[in-house]
Amino acid sequence: MNILVVGAGYVGLVTAACLANKTNRVVCVDTDPKKLAKLASGQIPIYEPGLKEIVDAAVSNKYLTFELGIKAGLTKVESESTEPTLVFIAVGTPQGEDGSADLRYVLAAAREIGQQLTQPAIVINKSTVPVGTAESVKGEVAWQLFQRKCFIEFDVASNPEFLKEGAAIEDFFKPDRIVIGTDNENTKANMLKLYRPFVDDEKRLLTVGVKEAELIKYASNAMLATRISFMNEIANICDRYGIDVEDVRQGVGMDSRIGPAFLKAGCGYGGSCFPKDVQALVRIAQSVGVEPLVLNGVESRNKKQKQYLFEHIVAKMGKDLTGRKIAVWGLAFKPETDDMREASSIDLIRALCHAGAQVVAHDPVAKEVAEQVFADLIRNGRLTLVDHAMAATQDADALALVTEWAEYKTADLDALKQSLKAAIVFDGRNHLNPVVMKQHGFHYAGVGRV
Ligand code: NAD
Repeated sequence: MNILVVGAGYVGLVTAACLANKTNRVVCVDTDPKKLAKLASGQIPIYEPGLKEIVDAAVSNKYLTFELGIKAGLTKVESESTEPTLVFIAVGTPQGEDGSADLRYVLAAAREIGQQLTQPAIVINKSTVPVGTAESVKGEVAWQLFQRKCFIEFDVASNPEFLKEGAAIEDFFKPDRIVIGTDNENTKANMLKLYRPFVDDEKRLLTVGVKEAELIKYASNAMLATRISFMNEIANICDRYGIDVEDVRQGVGMDSRIGPAFLKAGCGYGGSCFPKDVQALVRIAQSVGVEPLVLNGVESRNKKQKQYLFEHIVAKMGKDLTGRKIAVWGLAFKPETDDMREASSIDLIRALCHAGAQVVAHDPVAKEVAEQVFADLIRNGRLTLVDHAMAATQDADALALVTEWAEYKTADLDALKQSLKAAIVFDGRNHLNPVVMKQHGFHYAGVGRV
């Protein structure tokens, strides 16, 4: 099939490469010339395991090409097409000032598609967008075609993306489900044809109405965020009673109605999706007069949880951290990604520096991103980023673990103890074994652990 993917970010690039890998002809476009220049020279602008290999394979087989902007992309893809072009919109939907999803990039993409389209197309929203956005996209494309006095057949479908950063390729090739939101039989047939090669069982292809698909994405992310916030609240109760939250988690998760996934307590969720999607769903609910009681609680708990490590560090070391050096392990919002959007590390490091501490931080892949996020703190000498985990802990008064990278779990504890000035470890992800840590003589504090 002939496909245009608009946006070469985490979702767009993965979608483009995976679809091209199944012998579809895919043109992926972006408006960022720097991103395009990197892709043209064989580099991948983001860190995502396995992505380079499939991009390289698809490019060398000529199934995947990159262009700057929608106009160039459509020109290329339409010239090769006899069937309707599938145009995926995979641009960002950041949080607007009032918490709702900012649709400016989606609608700008729709406008340009309407301005440039010359052949029948199915426009597919892959971006996470509020209920009713497919209607808005349809209106935008139709208005542009009307102004051009063109009659070109097109439809708009919703196909939300559920991939997880860090496991995006596997998720795309082995999805739990693919949600196709359409009320049009022809669109449905084309989407099923496109996605059948990605599922082992047709039952994984869920076709629903457009609005249902739009809400499924928000409801899914909000459900996962709810489980995390719920368990974080339980962890706080555990702290007060001296109960181990890991035992509680195990016992709760063994109930087949609940299941074990997404029940780990920690120092709050971050990333490009959960925080903004919970906020956006709050706005969606409010816009139709529903008071989002549960969702507000999920968000409040998460905001509070992001202060958890700082509060425990201060409780142990005092409010004034002037002259103290704190090591931080992990900057990305989760392992196997360099994405730092809404990462808990940001709240912690800013609070530590504000309290006078000197921070030395390490992350296996997010250093480059962190240099931008913390440019001010690096400039004024409060924060240093280092290339090796043990370089961060050298002479530090304590270590705070914020991202559960595998390499931290296997760290040499004797070397760690030797490098720290004081053997104090705050584990914001319950990543290390408290018994082993204590055996090695550390003062160890997890989240809701004894
Ligand atoms: P991103 O910011 O990494 O990428 C978006 C890209 O779109 C950028 O490179 C930007 O330059 C480009 N772009 C913007 N306007 C454009 C235009 N008119 N033409 C061409 N390119 C344009 O965003 P992302 O993380 O890939 O997320 C995209 C969408 O997918 C969001 O709605 C997000 O909520 C959703 N989503 C993200 C994830 C994730 O894990 N990142 C998972 C599922 C869904």
